[in-house]
Amino acid sequence: MSSTPVIYSTAHLAHEGLIELQDGVVMPCYEMPQRAIAIRQALKAEGTYRFATPLEHGLDPILAVHDVELVRLLEHVWADAVEAGVTHGTRALIPDTFRTAAYVHGQASSQLPDSGPARLGAFCFDTATPIVAGTYEAARAAVDVALTTAERVLAGDRLAYGICRPPGHHAGRSLFGGYCFFNNAAIVAQRLVEGGASRVAILDLDYHHGNGTQQIFWERGDVLYVSLHADPRRAYPYFSGHAAEKGSGAGAGTTANFPLAARTDVEGYAAALDDALRRIADFAPDAPLVLSLGFDTFERDPIGDLALRTADYARLARMVGGLGLPVVALQEGGYAIDAIGANAVSFLNALRDALPATAGKT
Ligand SMILES: [Zn+2]
Repeated sequence: MSSTPVIYSTAHLAHEGLIELQDGVVMPCYEMPQRAIAIRQALKAEGTYRFATPLEHGLDPILAVHDVELVRLLEHVWADAVEAGVTHGTRALIPDTFRTAAYVHGQASSQLPDSGPARLGAFCFDTATPIVAGTYEAARAAVDVALTTAERVLAGDRLAYGICRPPGHHAGRSLFGGYCFFNNAAIVAQRLVEGGASRVAILDLDYHHGNGTQQIFWERGDVLYVSLHADPRRAYPYFSGHAAEKGSGAGAGTTANFPLAARTDVEGYAAALDDALRRIADFAPDAPLVLSLGFDTFERDPIGDLALRTADYARLARMVGGLGLPVVALQEGGYAIDAIGANAVSFLNALRDALPATAGKT
């Protein structure tokens, strides 16, 4: 049996010591290095995954999706903060003043503050996405992980998996938040388009709506974004992910959202996934499927409220495999550290077994 490539970088380890403000309480960030470590250990123990480090891809693929101002800010803000004495070199940077649409409504000025840390509030949308000394390098490495994973699939593997940390699907063109800085899945999809694909599909199975991915491709007819997620009427990120959001302009009809009720179990989830997969099949992608894979749908996830069990991921993966498309699987969320490895094994083993042997030739 051939082994499945897994791309992993140790750069994420320096994106650590994170805190977030949730419900008025400062607490350790749920998005912690142990997540990726646990997944890696569980796949290693399987013995059927071959591990590789990512190739460096430089900034161009990131700038194809993100505003250069966002990229520059993330690159320099930590050093700026240390120089200005803002963090004392230890405290994570979290913006406290946000340039919301309501703030700037009716004002002509787009002038931003001179100081890097003060500028963060113009590019960030929450208090859950702290920046520390190793954040930029980790975010860059996560993009390299994603792109290298895609290259394995383009080279003929039916499935490759990138342990992207930090995750990416909440990051928009000029926006970071939701533990995400660069949108790994969007960068891969864009790369596939630039490589000649005319129809690329992204399937997002994270518990949360991928507001960033939706935004980036909102007016694009060549990239279909399909997401199953907790209904934003009750769940983060609150302001996107409704079923009525379907894209606009050239992208009208190429966004599809499937909001889910609290405690949705595998039966309800599979019914929505069946509809989602039909949308993808109708779109007829001519590139590998880009899969934003989150395990915060798990029944014991500390920040989710769905009810999937470890064995359920195998069933869902077989459904995804039924598309017959090769899959670039990229890690997004999932915060039940004690189960995330088993959940990844359940999903990936089943997906590998479900994919037709010839899929890698697509
Ligand atoms: Zn999530």
